[in-house]
Amino acid sequence: MVIESKLRMSETQERTLPASKQRALFLDRDGVINEEVNYLVQWEHVRFVEGIFELCRTARGLGYRLIVVTNQAGIARGFYTEDDFHTLMEWMRGEFEREGCALDAVYYCPTHPEHGVGAYKRESIDRKPGPGMLLRGAAEFGVDLAASVFVGDRCTDVAAGNAAGVGKMFLLRGVEEAACEGDYEAVSSLDEVRRHLVLGE
Ligand SMILES: [Mg+2]
Repeated sequence: MVIESKLRMSETQERTLPASKQRALFLDRDGVINEEVNYLVQWEHVRFVEGIFELCRTARGLGYRLIVVTNQAGIARGFYTEDDFHTLMEWMRGEFEREGCALDAVYYCPTHPEHGVGAYKRESIDRKPGPGMLLRGAAEFGVDLAASVFVGDRCTDVAAGNAAGVGKMFLLRGVEEAACEGDYEAVSSLDEVRRHLVLGE
């Protein structure tokens, strides 16, 4: 009962933290925000993962910034353009706003070291397992990474989160069949992450 009332309270209270204590909930996109569809580009194909909006509303209520960090190899491979990506994300951001949990930022990596076409064929610290997007988000929003949380669904997310020094890394079960290296907690639902944010476990 105590847990449930704490969870409810977190949705109605907006806490303002001092600038030095800013923290973020970093979210991978494919497989965490939306169900994995290979090279998603049309909004009609988006199916939101169960619990994503509840998680984000709770996080916002607790003062977390909401920052998306997504590899977009489909751009590198020429399957869709950066404009296509922005169009889809504009729609997606509208959905988050409507759900009462506007996203603060979306970072994406459009390159791939082997399969990229033209200028998109290159190594990048932004491409997970690189920590570039997390570090950029932290710098731009004055976020304390050690106090932040990252939810991904692949070992490359875990590696990126660990490399950036994110305090708590969650791996949503389903995609990776074997264990990942590094520090993380595997969860079966986004509600488990939500409970962690509220209870600080
Ligand atoms: Mg993913």
